[in-house]
Amino acid sequence: MSPTKSFSEAHLLPRSGSIGSTVEQALAAAEAQRDLNAYLELFHDSAREQAARVDARINAGEAGPLAGVVLSIKDNICYKGHKVSASSRILEGFTSLYSATAVERLLAADAVIIGRTNCDEFAMGSSNENSAFGKVLNPVEKTMVPGGSSGGAAASVAAGTVHVALGSDTGGSIRQPASFTGTVGLKPTYGRISRYGLIAFASSFDQIGPFAHTVEDTAAVYQVMAGHDPKDATTSKRPVEPITLEHPGKLRIAYYREGLERAGMDPEVVAHMQAQIDRLKAEGHIVEPISVPLLDHQVPTYYILATAEASSNLARFDGIRFGHRSTKAQGVDETYRLSRSEAFGPEVKRRILLGTFVLSAGYYDAYYAQAQRVRRIIRDHTLASLEEFDLILSPTCPTTAFAHGAITDPVAMYLQDIFTVQANLAGTPAISLPTGTHSNGLPFGIQLTAKPFDEARLLAASARIFGC
Ligand code: GLN
Repeated sequence: MSPTKSFSEAHLLPRSGSIGSTVEQALAAAEAQRDLNAYLELFHDSAREQAARVDARINAGEAGPLAGVVLSIKDNICYKGHKVSASSRILEGFTSLYSATAVERLLAADAVIIGRTNCDEFAMGSSNENSAFGKVLNPVEKTMVPGGSSGGAAASVAAGTVHVALGSDTGGSIRQPASFTGTVGLKPTYGRISRYGLIAFASSFDQIGPFAHTVEDTAAVYQVMAGHDPKDATTSKRPVEPITLEHPGKLRIAYYREGLERAGMDPEVVAHMQAQIDRLKAEGHIVEPISVPLLDHQVPTYYILATAEASSNLARFDGIRFGHRSTKAQGVDETYRLSRSEAFGPEVKRRILLGTFVLSAGYYDAYYAQAQRVRRIIRDHTLASLEEFDLILSPTCPTTAFAHGAITDPVAMYLQDIFTVQANLAGTPAISLPTGTHSNGLPFGIQLTAKPFDEARLLAASARIFGC
């Protein structure tokens, strides 16, 4: 089975000892496309060892549900004995002492991990241009960005090097790159997949999730990773529903009128949304416009809260415990200051400063506490809409992928997240589906959002109503 294809089909084939050759194909495909800079490292040895173990288990008739599946992991997800850097110089030379729960579950299900993928430093960005290890090329059109922050993950799938890639999504970092690369990208409900072993950016927003060629593959990997983990107290104890992908019947679907009317929207993205709405109505679904809760406040609310959490989470990178330590420093204060000054990139520094500012005694009430209140209003409004409707439909992004270097203003870059941050603010699951192709030749996605823990219906609708 080639990693350029979905693995679901291959699951139907008799399982003979051939995982080793799939892994060789995947490694060769990744090597041949080094120019994309999607991978920071290929795990040749451990991938081959795991492939041999899986082959033996297949021959013994004991193969797990993901035998034959080849994966990449974003460089902020820990895999025991392997380097992990969050694409930052501050973690230079750091090797993980344990595996993320998601990684452990995938390996236990007999998946093979072939490498770690490039991303924006500490998952902060929307273009993958904030990596300390260089930009990633979009495999669909190399002059374009692949999106971010999980740009390498998206590119690793779009380039056909793996069946599935793990990314992380704090404000859209799975869905926006999925939209830019023509892949499926799922951000699960907050608390559905353990964050243990995910390098924290903003802990009340972060979720691990998959990119894949199809919803079926997305679902298979999601199912294995989902569920309570005693090592992450924010995971839910709710049982994980089996994902059957059966047609969910006629649905009540809301869409955001503002999503169609907003300035800065690409007209072809709007026309595609309208065509989807017309088709869904013609198929007998109830499709109605609703208004977005506080649309213009979502991005600012997200950036206040996410930077506040980041400034606290990133305090642990002090030059003493992990990675880079300044050789110029004398004394402990200077070690903190110089190590952090030398090794964090400009976007990470900007966010630490912003986050520290909004948490400072004089401004806490005006910014942080206020943003918490606005988050609650957005969450309540979103959940109320999802009582009335099964799904909310919106574009994933206002435009298709942009060229490298095209967006230099940080605030303009933050507006990439206009449609994606809501799911993180509200904790709902959301998926980007590759349903559109622009006349400029680039793919783009639409986004579906469901009630918390309603991934079964979200995925079923994605496969059966949106044909992905
Ligand atoms: N683009 C957003 C940011 O820069 C989202 C990042 C993410 O989801 N990790 O914060």
